[in-house]
Amino acid sequence: MQGKVRLNPFDVSLLGPFASLIDSFHESNANPPEQLLQRIWAHQRILRRELRCDDGRSVRILHPGFWNRGPGPDFLRAVVQFEMEPPTAGDVEIDVVDSGWRGHHHHLNPDFDHVVLRVVWESGAHCHLPPPILALKPVLDAPLNELALWLESPLVSALDLRGRCCDPLESLEKARVLELILEAALERLRRKAFRFHSRARVCGWEQALWEGVFAALGYSHNPWPMLSLAEQLPELLADLAEGEGRRLHLQSRLLGVAGFLERYSSRDSDDTPSSSRKGGFPGARSIGLGSNGEVRADAARVFWDFWWRDRDLFSSRILPQQVWRLASTRPANRPERRLALVSHWLLRSNFVRALEEWIIAPHPHPEQGLFDQLQPEPDPFWHNHWTLDCAVGQKSTAPLLGKARVSDLAMNIFLPWFWARAGVGGNSEIRNTVTRRYLSWPANQDNRVLKLARQRLFGDRPNTVPVTAATQQGMLQIVADFCQLSNSLCENCQFPRVVRQFQHGHAKG
Ligand code: SF4
Repeated sequence: MQGKVRLNPFDVSLLGPFASLIDSFHESNANPPEQLLQRIWAHQRILRRELRCDDGRSVRILHPGFWNRGPGPDFLRAVVQFEMEPPTAGDVEIDVVDSGWRGHHHHLNPDFDHVVLRVVWESGAHCHLPPPILALKPVLDAPLNELALWLESPLVSALDLRGRCCDPLESLEKARVLELILEAALERLRRKAFRFHSRARVCGWEQALWEGVFAALGYSHNPWPMLSLAEQLPELLADLAEGEGRRLHLQSRLLGVAGFLERYSSRDSDDTPSSSRKGGFPGARSIGLGSNGEVRADAARVFWDFWWRDRDLFSSRILPQQVWRLASTRPANRPERRLALVSHWLLRSNFVRALEEWIIAPHPHPEQGLFDQLQPEPDPFWHNHWTLDCAVGQKSTAPLLGKARVSDLAMNIFLPWFWARAGVGGNSEIRNTVTRRYLSWPANQDNRVLKLARQRLFGDRPNTVPVTAATQQGMLQIVADFCQLSNSLCENCQFPRVVRQFQHGHAKG
């Protein structure tokens, strides 16, 4: 039994991915995995009163930060205090070894500019370059194997991230909490509608709609370059080829002005397609599509075959590649694919009219009706490609549109746009329809902002309000209006006071 773990405060059935590693910690002094170090940090299983950085300064952890499951530092918006200095807010990066900072090029990555503390397992050579380093190994509050077991337990899997609003929310009746969250959701609808109204006064309702659609399809990483493309739609849609090449022509313009075709320009400058030199745009056979619509290996060139003719006209509008954030974008969400999708909609002469019919017509499942209506026509290239150069695996295809995207567009773009337009036109019937659909729309995909918001607002009662698209919107509005203006300690946050006033108002009423 020598070398085996005997400390087991939990049932063995609770053991998870670290269990198999426990022996190796014990027997070989191997470094623990980074994920375990992250959990130790998240739960602060360290001797918190004895922390000292490699530069000799003491450090207090006032808040460990919020665990970041996306790109960037591991913990965001931590609050730490060095010596007797004022507390500092910033991010915390966890690495097993201190060489990881340079090894992973974090020192060159602007996402890591706000790191105030690096946490490692064991500190190596002391370089004393900022950010300061804190080594965990000497300050664990229990043996590592015991911690690994403890951290596996579901009892501790939920971090205690309760915000200061958690108690006042807990003392409200559930129905009142729901009312409060829905009020925040309606406020979000009004604000989005207000933005559409303002923009429509400048450029018209239809252009305002397209700008919203483009920005929404840029997701959180690329709304600005997508918006920039939408602002150029009148020029991008002018003088397109007729017939079967029309969509490819538009896609090539969108991709070209986005800057995604620039890499082909050096490759192909002396290799202009002969069919195009003779005048006219290439036909389906010369653009990489076989007779059955299958995609040939060189199909990405089809876009260049169109674009080389337009490039001079649009050269001053081509976006530099630095404006795009692509590294952490999932293949299915790549902006190239989103531009392809929106090209289908742009070429429908009745796109807005069909949306109007959808909002007017009674529909038992409006989300399904909208999904059906927005389906793009068959698009052989994009059903088989994640990007211009990257094909989907042979046995699968990649639909350009999924239900989650449709819901996202409905809640953030189409319904607020209709709400604004109906308000200006004095059409209360449509406004009521929009509000009803907004409040009854099924829940959209969960995300880490919503998960964190639920933990902060409701603690261990995540099901306090039913999950619908509207309650999700309400939570996002509370995050935007309160959490993002405060810090991880909820300093100066007015939301607890708002909740108490809401409760008080109800009691009086
Ligand atoms: S910052 Fe405000 S709204 Fe956010 S969790 Fe803290 S108290 Fe609640």
